[in-house]
Amino acid sequence: MFSDNNFIPYGRQTIEQDDIDAVVEVLRSDWLTTGPTIARFEAAIAEYVGARHAVAVSSGTAALHAAMFALGIGSGDEVIVPPLSFVATANAVLYQGGIPVFTDVEADGLLIDPEQVERKITARTKAIIAVDYAGQPCDYDALRQVADRHGLSLVADSCHSLGAEYRGGKVGTLADLTVFSFHPVKPITTGEGGMVVTSREDYVERMKVFRNHGITSDHHQRAQKNLWRYQMTELGYNYRMTDIQAALGLSQLKKLDSWIKYRKELAKYYKEELTDCPGVSLLTQYSERKSAWHLFVVRIADGRRDDLFQQLRASKIGVNVHYGLIYRHPYYSRTRLQTVPDCPSAEIAANEILSLPIFPGMNQDQTKEISKKIKSYKFK
Ligand SMILES: *Cc1c(COP(=O)(O)O)cnc(C)c1O
Repeated sequence: MFSDNNFIPYGRQTIEQDDIDAVVEVLRSDWLTTGPTIARFEAAIAEYVGARHAVAVSSGTAALHAAMFALGIGSGDEVIVPPLSFVATANAVLYQGGIPVFTDVEADGLLIDPEQVERKITARTKAIIAVDYAGQPCDYDALRQVADRHGLSLVADSCHSLGAEYRGGKVGTLADLTVFSFHPVKPITTGEGGMVVTSREDYVERMKVFRNHGITSDHHQRAQKNLWRYQMTELGYNYRMTDIQAALGLSQLKKLDSWIKYRKELAKYYKEELTDCPGVSLLTQYSERKSAWHLFVVRIADGRRDDLFQQLRASKIGVNVHYGLIYRHPYYSRTRLQTVPDCPSAEIAANEILSLPIFPGMNQDQTKEISKKIKSYKFK
């Protein structure tokens, strides 16, 4: 099944004939880049998550950047972020000249801790970015209360959690702006791609200008009105998604619910195998939250994570670590930090976490095989 000598990756896209057909259809049409398929994909994602508006962009990173722009984050503005995330979460703040303020996660689910968030708020704080780590939604009620008390915006980095739910509400309706990624390992893929959903029309207008160089009308609109004049009113970027990608996204979205269901089953098999395994513990799954099961993360005790990682990799099992803490990366420690942020739970977790393979193309036997290898590992 896997071309590289049966290596099982931690995540992988699923591409079927209907996905290929959808892309080919766009390739034969008049529009390759921002055309009618983008609008259809935006409408489909907005409808799926129950949001009023969606803006497609070229990556999850561009989506985070656009969200920071929509909020007007600028020089010296502080944005609270968890350190246990992909670097893009904090980089998006830096792109706008802002300051990411690293705030600890809670010890059990590794989601940003609303109490710690409140402690980090200063007069310069403008927003909170919550990361739905591994696919489980953060505590959005508590985060909303903190945000409202201090007049802050709440952004969800939901790159792991498209399709997840919190207290009956879909991810995409829980924050002021919610960001998704369509990188191949994410819940659905467009190759590269991203989306921001929101209920605020003013944010939508700003982000549509931002993704197109800061120009106020797109080529399509000008063609329709027989106008050549355009105005650049902001410093934007070329962050456009193509219609080719949007066609793939539309086709993938139809399968998302069945894929999440299947991921949940795989997680159940792992849980059955590993629940009482000495040296291994699982992340807490909170009640009233439905995870999208983007990652299956276990914690490995006794400083044995890296050794077990090597042994599993030698057995062609593509375990991974999500993530090394953002502020421990050389760029951050060299240029951005006077002192190491105080994030004890994230520090402990960073040395214990291990992501086991989970994706729709896997089968139950593979979860058994992987669990067996872990159970036979000799913890001292
Ligand atoms: C993947 C990811 C991103 C970046 O998305 P890209 O589409 O790769 O740019 C940002 N944040 C998190 C939490 C992610 O997992």
